[in-house]
Amino acid sequence: MLHEIHHSIDAHAEEMVAIRRYLHQHPELSFQETETAKYICAFYDKLGIPYIKDVGGNGVVATLKGAKPGKTVALRADFDALPIHDEKDVPYRSTVDGVMHACGHDGHTATLLTLAKVMQTFQQELSGTILFLHQHAEEYAPGGAKPMIEAGAIEEVDYVFGTHLWSTVPLGVLQTSESILMAGADRFEITIQGQGGHGAYPHETKDALVIGSQLVQALQQIIARRIDPMQTAVITVGKFESGNAFNIIADKAKLTGTVRYLEPQVQTQIMKEMKAVAEGICQANQVTCDFQYETGYPPLKNHKKEAELVLEASKQVTQIKTAEKIIPVMGAEDFAYYMMEKPGAFFFTGAQKNDSLYPHHHPKFDFDERAMPIAAKLLIGAYFTINPITVP
Ligand code: MN
Repeated sequence: MLHEIHHSIDAHAEEMVAIRRYLHQHPELSFQETETAKYICAFYDKLGIPYIKDVGGNGVVATLKGAKPGKTVALRADFDALPIHDEKDVPYRSTVDGVMHACGHDGHTATLLTLAKVMQTFQQELSGTILFLHQHAEEYAPGGAKPMIEAGAIEEVDYVFGTHLWSTVPLGVLQTSESILMAGADRFEITIQGQGGHGAYPHETKDALVIGSQLVQALQQIIARRIDPMQTAVITVGKFESGNAFNIIADKAKLTGTVRYLEPQVQTQIMKEMKAVAEGICQANQVTCDFQYETGYPPLKNHKKEAELVLEASKQVTQIKTAEKIIPVMGAEDFAYYMMEKPGAFFFTGAQKNDSLYPHHHPKFDFDERAMPIAAKLLIGAYFTINPITVP
């Protein structure tokens, strides 16, 4: 039966591409993906597969119950896009100014929808239940996974699996981890209130820009000199706003950035040290400091046994040449929340296009669409490790 399923997935590859390209042309931002949710619902309506919509927001959960008993396994795909202007020169370029599927969530959705269509034709032979978990708002914390879980989306679920197409990993490669696969990600905002003035008379001012630049440097020392070198963490100041004119001393400086970490105690330490450094520098310079730290997605920690099952199942997928365990990447994913509730695993499906190295979230991001049928086979392969095929 597995051979027939793979054959059917391949036979639907063109439809998968059509769905992906439609979604690519019609991207919607996190928490605003109402049309995409409608598109997903309409797809299930047409198939006659039951679903629940508006789950924890724009989430959609469809259920395919096999004729034979077994476990309930959720397969997850996210469907939101990013506030990026699409700079690709392709016919399926985004039609929405400033909004783009620059992370491949269009591909995830096309993969999962097509897989649902294929698996419906095997419903009589199927053991257990497949839950198609279409999640909104992965790109923007607090994200869609948490409210979907709170709405009961995976209450009846025994396992959760998911994949991310990865544009910098070659086609035919699967990557996962038996433990932490992706980092935790937080957001911070530090506002320094100085005292502006004439560029010629610095002694009469409190230069927020100079103090801010001191802080940018000092924050890096937390990583270099305060965190145990055997631990992994990142502090990035991504935005520095200060100053208005060449001859005016800045009144205010605002630093916005992200923290990445793998272990909760490192997160706690960084929060504490950042606050101390920011307030200390401001105090020394006699200015006020407003320190805001917002925790985001926790680290994504796979379950060992299920990660091994994914690796094992990938041997059945002929297109997979390499299935490997990797060290964590410092990107984040709210799939982490599912892993805190249920056993399962997340993995990367290699989807690099023509040796392109445009990373995720790049205006020229794209992926090799041949990765979608591979992702579908890997997802259903994971399902069958839980509910084995009983017919030849
Ligand atoms: Mn993503």
